[in-house]
Amino acid sequence: MNTDVPGSTLAGGHLGGELMTVMIVIVGGLLFAVWHSFSDALAWRIFTAYYSAERKKITHKLAFIFGSSSRCEYCSAPVPALGLIPVAGFFLMKGRCRACERKLSYRFPVFEGLAAVYGMLLAFSGVTAAEFAVSLIAYLLVWLVVSTDYRVLLIPTEAILGLLILGIVYLLTMKNPHWYELKDTGLGIDLAVAFVWFFLFHMLRILSGYKMGLADVRLVLALGFLLGHPLALFLPGFAAMLAIGFYLVRRYSILIYAPSDTEIPFGVFLGAGYLLLNLAGRLV
Ligand SMILES: [Zn+2]
Repeated sequence: MNTDVPGSTLAGGHLGGELMTVMIVIVGGLLFAVWHSFSDALAWRIFTAYYSAERKKITHKLAFIFGSSSRCEYCSAPVPALGLIPVAGFFLMKGRCRACERKLSYRFPVFEGLAAVYGMLLAFSGVTAAEFAVSLIAYLLVWLVVSTDYRVLLIPTEAILGLLILGIVYLLTMKNPHWYELKDTGLGIDLAVAFVWFFLFHMLRILSGYKMGLADVRLVLALGFLLGHPLALFLPGFAAMLAIGFYLVRRYSILIYAPSDTEIPFGVFLGAGYLLLNLAGRLV
């Protein structure tokens, strides 16, 4: 995207040289791995402070969320500096907490590794620095949505609000920077696609007897802004395919956690769908 401005992209451009591209791809991967680690810690603290059984014991919630260092999820022992290294930290710690000996979740190395691949491919795709920054912020907010919805079938409204604002800023400053000239239909089509899904999801919510949450309806609008036309067209269908795939796999493995057997955490699949479409749209 935006290859019409030479030298404006992260990879390639006038900086040129294969070595530069390789370096940018590595930095992109490292950034996303560290960023995932931060996002996951933040998501866990928000879950603990607002949604977990211990939430009433945490009186200074903001201090808890923003002021604490990384700790063991079981015994709250501080994680040594070695353990904070993305992916490798898990193996350097031999997969166990040094204080309580309990096994650390495999989600740490697995998702840090996936985030690194995501960042590498995104940097390789030739996004601008600004688009890369939008993808980073969106990743954090989407991870808050995905992990909270997966744990307790709830989505923090603040995360959806953040995605809505980010989406509007992206549409007005990056995807359609000359929207105020009112000469082309770009912004109109981007908004139309997002709002059509928004209204269809409202209908779906009513038709399903309010089994679908209002948060999912708002989320599809915010992610629609962030994707724009034509990617946003594919979002709900793609998310539904991911959900079906997840529940098919889950039928064969009781090890896969789901927060409910009757309600689907659709925010998880909308969030994952957004991340994959955002990447695919830039690579293709
Ligand atoms: Zn521990």
